[in-house]
Amino acid sequence: MADEKCWEIKKDCLMRGRSQETAGCPAYRADKSCWEIDWREVIKYLPASQQEYWYSHMDRCPECIAFKSHPEEMQARIDELKSFYLND
Ligand code: SF4
Repeated sequence: MADEKCWEIKKDCLMRGRSQETAGCPAYRADKSCWEIDWREVIKYLPASQQEYWYSHMDRCPECIAFKSHPEEMQARIDELKSFYLND
């Protein structure tokens, strides 16, 4: 499990089997796990409504098996995003 990507760990990930070029998830498109991506770089160019989506979506992360496999790294990503979003 240590080297698996988030979509490999999260068996019901909606990205599994999709084309990485056109996938809706920025992490999957970048071939990086959710704990490896700087979500600030992702959301800062999005319209406010989509920023709000990704910001509120992060509240569910702690329930996710991918988060549970890398809690420190992913919590750091969430904290980065929250401090960025709140200070934007
Ligand atoms: S961040 Fe979530 S939705 Fe995106 S690929 Fe990883 S598990 Fe799937």
